[in-house]
Amino acid sequence: MAGVVIVGAGQAAASAAAKLRALGYAEPITIIGEEPLAPYQRPPLSKAYLLGQMPIDRLLLRSPEFWAEQQVELRLGTAVTAIDRAAKEVRLAGTRLPYSQLILATGAVPHRLPAAIGGALAGVHVVRNLADVDGMAPALRAGARLVVVGGGYIGLEAAAVARKLGLEVVLVEAAPRILGRVASAETADAIRSMHLAHGVEIIEGIGISRLWGDTSVRGVELSDGRNLPADLVIVGIGVAPATALAQAAGLAIDNGIAVDAEGRTADPAIWAAGDCASFPMGSGGLRLESVGNAIDMAECVAGNILGAATAYVPRPWFWSDQYDAKLQIAGLNTGYDQVITRQAEGYSVWYYRGKTLLAVDALNDARAYMVGKRLIEAGRSPDAARVADPLTDLKALL
Ligand SMILES: Cc1cc2nc3c(=O)[nH]c(=O)nc-3n(C[C@H](O)[C@H](O)[C@H](O)COP(=O)(O)OP(=O)(O)OC[C@H]3O[C@@H](n4cnc5c(N)ncnc54)[C@H](O)[C@@H]3O)c2cc1C
Repeated sequence: MAGVVIVGAGQAAASAAAKLRALGYAEPITIIGEEPLAPYQRPPLSKAYLLGQMPIDRLLLRSPEFWAEQQVELRLGTAVTAIDRAAKEVRLAGTRLPYSQLILATGAVPHRLPAAIGGALAGVHVVRNLADVDGMAPALRAGARLVVVGGGYIGLEAAAVARKLGLEVVLVEAAPRILGRVASAETADAIRSMHLAHGVEIIEGIGISRLWGDTSVRGVELSDGRNLPADLVIVGIGVAPATALAQAAGLAIDNGIAVDAEGRTADPAIWAAGDCASFPMGSGGLRLESVGNAIDMAECVAGNILGAATAYVPRPWFWSDQYDAKLQIAGLNTGYDQVITRQAEGYSVWYYRGKTLLAVDALNDARAYMVGKRLIEAGRSPDAARVADPLTDLKALL
């Protein structure tokens, strides 16, 4: 019996395998991952692990004993190079492995700056894998000059860690403001103030012309002609879904591996979950890049492989740790036309479309996050004026 083969040994792979076993699946399960480590959490890579405050074994999602007990075979340090759909086999270096059901959980690949403008110089880093972070760790020493390219969550988290370690940090964002793709101006203002207070210089609305240096990066030239000296550069300019394998196998790609509501591709034996997968939502396809999505979608796929026939309904949540602040996000703010801010226990930003609550960003405000998340999941929208009033007891809104 061929069993389930999972390509990619990340969050979605681990969740799918564990759920299959929890649901009683007794056939072989094999996870194939090109990284050498067993499935691990990525969020600490730009937070506690980057800061040097988390040992590597705490990154692991499950212990080696768990995988052994569950009889899940991990083939690590091994890339799947092709899918033979007619034979229902995946190809690995020098060998083939048959599957009865295949889950693609290949994650995402970080965008890099082009080599033509210095993106391939030594000292230029991305933050996606453990190897990326281990590779830059020796350069993260007090007094070094870091330029962060990109003001999204990963760039901002890396900037915060670097300041804590005593580096001089300049963050450059080409768009008019940081967090432009993911958060309101109000949230961005709060985050920007925090970084400025910690001594990060933030340059917005200016692009990069080139990175320069001999073999190692020594500086960053901006599009307005300014020149920033740099001992290292961290590039956090987003990711692309890892779709090459699926595309080469003739599966449809639509900003990710296109799957139906159950997480299945047009091939009835192939499924996808996590950062690589785009699922139907409203009139188009939606792809989310978060731990919550990777877990929930993978578990949904596991159930559907066993015949549950359940549509995947995301319940988006996300978090970001910067300095000693915790930002927690519930819902998806896409399409908002109004923002309400609330200054109470902490600071929170509530996104509405008309009278419908879409999402909440809660900065150091666990209650606003918890109440907002429960309201959004229940499809309930509190009156905006009541939310804004700091005297309103949020729990009374539930
Ligand atoms: C630095 C960082 C910080 C983050 N912080 C947060 C956060 O605070 N909160 C949050 O919710 N999310 C966060 N995320 C996002 C979150 O980690 C991802 O959404 C999640 O890991 C997605 O899981 P996945 O299984 O889809 O992909 P991944 O975890 O990326 O796993 C995919 C794996 O597949 C492997 N692979 C790809 N192709 C092949 C192949 N052909 N053969 C074999 N193996 C292959 C890859 O090497 C990789 O190991 C963060 C991500 C990063 C990088």
